[in-house]
Amino acid sequence: MGVAFPYQRTYGLDMTVLELLNWSTHCLEKNQIENSRLNAELLLARSLDLSREGLYMNLRGPLQKGDKEAFERLIQRRISGEPLQYILEHQEFWSIDLKVDPRVLIPRPETELLVEQSLRILSESPFKRKPFILEIGTGSGAIAIAMAKERKDVFLVATDLSREAILLAKENARSAGVQSQIEFVSGDLFEPFCVSKKQGLFDLILSNPPYLHRHEIQTLAKEVKDYEPMIALDGGEDGLEFYRRIISRVPFYLRPGGWLLLEVGQGQNPRVTELMEETGYFFHPESVPDLAGIERVVKAQKK
Ligand code: SAM
Ligand code: GLN
Repeated sequence: MGVAFPYQRTYGLDMTVLELLNWSTHCLEKNQIENSRLNAELLLARSLDLSREGLYMNLRGPLQKGDKEAFERLIQRRISGEPLQYILEHQEFWSIDLKVDPRVLIPRPETELLVEQSLRILSESPFKRKPFILEIGTGSGAIAIAMAKERKDVFLVATDLSREAILLAKENARSAGVQSQIEFVSGDLFEPFCVSKKQGLFDLILSNPPYLHRHEIQTLAKEVKDYEPMIALDGGEDGLEFYRRIISRVPFYLRPGGWLLLEVGQGQNPRVTELMEETGYFFHPESVPDLAGIERVVKAQKK
């Protein structure tokens, strides 16, 4: 199924970069793609192998044979709903360049709050040895890599049920130069750890688990529901399945005085707080709002 490109009729082969940019912006806009100009610029820069600044320097320049066709394929993918980040295979998180592809969730800006809160706890807690951190469900590795970049003295274990995600997360950790600080392990939540040996081992346990209601997923934008991994989104019937599973087991893996920090979806913080309190292992949990005012992180210290 092709997309009708008006420029094919209106312009000849000698169209400029600017003309192609304008027409593709229009085309994306007509197909209800948000931020159509930015999308067009980034996709055109990619297909011409230029930076965004480079694109601006070349706006009056002519196009080479094949340029338009390559660009048209990218525009078609975007119009079909494929996220821009998967097409460009890139997302920035905590000012770190990460490779992303359909094996992993595209890290969201609000998840930086989990990193910020974890760093704050580390800076306020006295440690006699290297802080030891567990991240459950690392996906692209975004959270673990950001933590390792910020704190050269921490060591992390980052897990994911998806082996494919672990491969990409390792690649990202290498590119960011923090591979020696993170051990990546695939497995189901705490399954990679043996309770008897590793009891009370971690100083911090972090997770942004799948938290969407299963039935809600089909109502999301096609960029999410048709392209991002279901395993990264599906939080069970009520969206809370992973919180129940993580919170019931986490006391065995956290040392006394250690912290649990969880990202939550909108409106989930009261229930997640209750789940933590019901274990009897934690001091009173605290919720922290993101920049949009949504309670986004619930954190609690183990007694
Ligand atoms: N940490 C990344 C981020 O914040 O961008 C990804 C978060 S994504 C919402 C949840 C992650 O949990 C996915 O990478 C998914 O593969 C992983 N996951 C799902 N079920 C899991 C399980 N049973 N055990 C471990 N990881 C799991
Ligand atoms: N923040 C993602 C979304 O709104 C969901 C990620 C998750 O389930 N943790 O699509």
